[in-house]
Amino acid sequence: MKYDDQNIFAKILRGEIPCKKIYEDEFVLSFHDINPQKKVHALVIPKGKYVDLDDFCQNASPKEMTGLLKGINIVAKKLGISVDGGKGYRALSNIGEDGGQEVSHLHFHLFGGEKIGKMVQ
Ligand code: AMP
Repeated sequence: MKYDDQNIFAKILRGEIPCKKIYEDEFVLSFHDINPQKKVHALVIPKGKYVDLDDFCQNASPKEMTGLLKGINIVAKKLGISVDGGKGYRALSNIGEDGGQEVSHLHFHLFGGEKIGKMVQ
């Protein structure tokens, strides 16, 4: 699938739509999900234009890959849900139609602050 510059996260990255920012660096932007499913529900997105995790794995540079993974850990620590400072969390990325992906810019959901429950419902 071709990357759509008009997707909502692309607009957030360009500053055209506001977000409740948690963290930002060279590689990632993180913000609170607008419709939280758990006590803590954050999103971590790469700054590069990647549709989904498959696209990212095939086309991102090693630096971008490291940056995204490190970003997830930094955000989890910041939110107090990492295993270092909290009780753990779930990182999840929906990929494509069967994965239930709604926004076509790669994102990881971080769920925490309470028991997350069944892995798949
Ligand atoms: P997915 O189904 O994995 O593509 O998840 C998309 C997520 O983006 C959903 O959890 C939405 O609630 C969230 N979302 C959509 N628009 C916004 C927005 N403007 N700010 C923050 N989160 C959003």
